[in-house]
Order: sequence, then structure tokens, then C-alpha cells
Amino acid sequence: MFTIIKNGDVYSPNYKGQQSILIQGRSIIKIGDIDIELIKQLDPNLKIIDATGYTVMPGIIDPHIHLLGGGGEASYVTRTPEVQLSHLISNGITSVVGLIGTDGISRTLTSLYAKAQALEAEGVSTYMYTGNYHLPVTTITNSIKEDLFLIDKVIGTGEIAINDFRSSIPTIEELARIVADTTVGGMLSGKAGVTHFHIGTGKHKLKQIHDLIDHYDVKPNKLYVTHFDKGIDLLEEGISLSHKGVYVDLTASSNTVEYVNYYRAHGGDISKLTVSSDGHGSLPKFDNHNQLVGYDVAKCSTLTDQLFNLLVQDSNWEEVIALFTSNVANVLTLHHKGHIEEHYDADILIVDPKKKQIKDVFAKGQHMLSDYQMIRKGMFE
Ligand code: ZN
Repeated sequence: MFTIIKNGDVYSPNYKGQQSILIQGRSIIKIGDIDIELIKQLDPNLKIIDATGYTVMPGIIDPHIHLLGGGGEASYVTRTPEVQLSHLISNGITSVVGLIGTDGISRTLTSLYAKAQALEAEGVSTYMYTGNYHLPVTTITNSIKEDLFLIDKVIGTGEIAINDFRSSIPTIEELARIVADTTVGGMLSGKAGVTHFHIGTGKHKLKQIHDLIDHYDVKPNKLYVTHFDKGIDLLEEGISLSHKGVYVDLTASSNTVEYVNYYRAHGGDISKLTVSSDGHGSLPKFDNHNQLVGYDVAKCSTLTDQLFNLLVQDSNWEEVIALFTSNVANVLTLHHKGHIEEHYDADILIVDPKKKQIKDVFAKGQHMLSDYQMIRKGMFE
């Protein structure tokens, strides 16, 4: 019934010093001095994890992951595989937002909903976006607003592709309507109601996002734009958008450290920045003439690798950890997520950043990875 994580160096992501954490059920119920003997009387099976010498941080929230797989952009054989529980837990990812990308035909929202429910039952926390790259927006019910209102997992719309030859080449009016409907659906259901935009490598860059803010009655904090890893020119626009209130998401890649540093050095609003895996999406490589020249699958591990790369080179751990945890919880208004605080969900990692290793993972209070070993596996793993 009870678990104590003892004497870890706790980042909430704010630094709390060496603390012990008491978990009951799915929640953190106390941080600080804990009377172990007293708890033992209540629960003879009390589990005590010694985290001395380790860093304790919130579980990673991945705001952009293709739970069903994605791809198919070089025909059927290039459809990428589904995410399994171990892909998440072994990488310290305890919450995910699933979405559909280019292939909105064979990847359906009902399948995504079922996959999200399955992963939830296996132990992680799951959410999803309605829609996919394309317009008109595909929904489960009759509309974006009804999806948000009626379907527990749906917290927004996305990933709507713009500035990309694979998009529906949406007009600004169409995008404004999607954002408005998503915002209202979020208000009525008490959810984030964010519209998640996929930015491609077209020639108009972020013009439509600027136009939405400048010419339409949309709330900038309901716009969440991803794939700023595709060029410094895009990132510079992300920096200016962050000052208008837009949330900026970097897809984890080999340039994450460089791009996070650039964003900070050039005055980007760090509270508006997040990092996601794009896990199990396809990674098509195009040449200058938009011809497909290569193909790969995005790995969930890239997200965690980049977290550790940032921690190793960066002294501001509070700020770095927030990019993967509390900032994501803020944009998605996931209450009880993304922080190590009393009454929050016990989504907790015990890590050794110097060795770039994850020692233990707790998700909703359940011990999933123990001493570097998976102790919970997915149904068919
Ligand atoms: Zn995308």
C-alpha cells in the first residue's frame, strides 16, 4: 500500500534538496521527514527504495507520440509499428499524448483511443488528440467540440499539418475555425483545448500561426506548434511566437542541445518550451526536390537521450527537467502531473544523469522499473 523513496536529490522540477517521498496508491502523500517505523506499523509490506546518491524527478510527459505507429509515406511496407509499454517505461516516459499523422486512413481515432486505453491499463497515463494532418478534421463523434466533451482521452486537436506538401494546404480561415472549436470544446470539458500544429519545411514557415494571432480572435496559449528542430530559421520564429504566448515544441533529435541553448541565448520564453519524441512516427528523408531518399522510425529513447545530454552539459537542471515535465503539464493543463508535489500523481523517476541511466520508474504509484530492470511488461511483451 505504501512506498517510500528515501534520501534522493529531488527536483520537483524545482530543487527541493535531499528528501524522502511517501507514496500511497497512485499519489504522493508526503515529501520530507517520514517516520518509517510508523508507516511500517500501518503497512508491514512497506516498500523502501534507497535513492541516496541519485536524482529524483517527475516522470517524462511525451506530448507527441504515434502510439499506433505512423508512416506509410513510401507505401504500405513503410507503415511503422505500434508503441509497446516497454518503449515508454524503459525511457522514463510515464504520460503520453497519442496522435495520428500523415496516414489518417488506416490509422483511425477509434484505434488510437483503444491503444491509449490499453496503455493506461498497463500502467501509464494516456491522452490523445482528435484529427490528423488533414482537413476536414476527422473526429470520433460529429465534431471537434463533441470529441473533447464526450471522450475522456481527447484533450485537443492535432497534429494539423501546415507549411508542408503533405498537408491539406489549409486556408487561414479553416485553421481559425479549428482553433476556435478546439478552444470551446476545451472550455466546456475542462480540458486544455489546444490545437497542435505540425510545421513542415515549406516556404511560408510560420506565417499562418502569426496570422492566426494577429488577425483572428484566438488565444495564443491554445496554439502548440511542433517540429522546431527543422532549422534555426524556424526556431527563431518559435522564439518570437513564444513571446506572443504560443507554446513551442522541439522534436528530440541530435540537435536538441544546440537548439535549446540557442532558444535560451536568444531570449525565447523558456516556460513555453517543451520537447517531444515524435516516437514511432516515420522519419522520411527528402532531397531538395522533395523526393523521398530514405526512411527510418523515430525512437522514444531519443527523448530521454536528449534529456540526459542536456543535464550533462547544463547546470540549470530545474529548467531542463521542466522542458520534459512541468512545462508539458502546463500547456496541456494536466493537473496532478509533471511535478513532484504532495497530492500529485506518483509518476517518479530515479536517475543517474551522469551515467545517463534510469534506475527506477514509478507510474501512477506502480513500480514499473526496478534497479534498471523492467518489472512490468505490456500484455504481449
Ligand atoms: Zn508531425
